[in-house]
Amino acid sequence: MTRLRDLTRQRFGGLTVVAYTGSSRWLCRCDCGRDCIRTYKSLHLDSQHACDEKLELELSIQLSIAKESERNKMIVSIKKF
Ligand SMILES: [Zn+2]
Repeated sequence: MTRLRDLTRQRFGGLTVVAYTGSSRWLCRCDCGRDCIRTYKSLHLDSQHACDEKLELELSIQLSIAKESERNKMIVSIKKF
């Protein structure tokens, strides 16, 4: 059993860990302002600026869907007025 280390606010290359998202994955903010999700392992392997890598993780897709639906809601509310 390995205990999960709290990586919040720690920096890995150009990435700063923002929050734990579950399933050993961390939400990270890049110096360029983009968010990405990294596993503990990939944070330690990638010491360079790496937010541009393909985000194959389901969680990142879920996040973008959430943002998309928020945008749609905004458009809908604008149309009403
Ligand atoms: Zn970046």
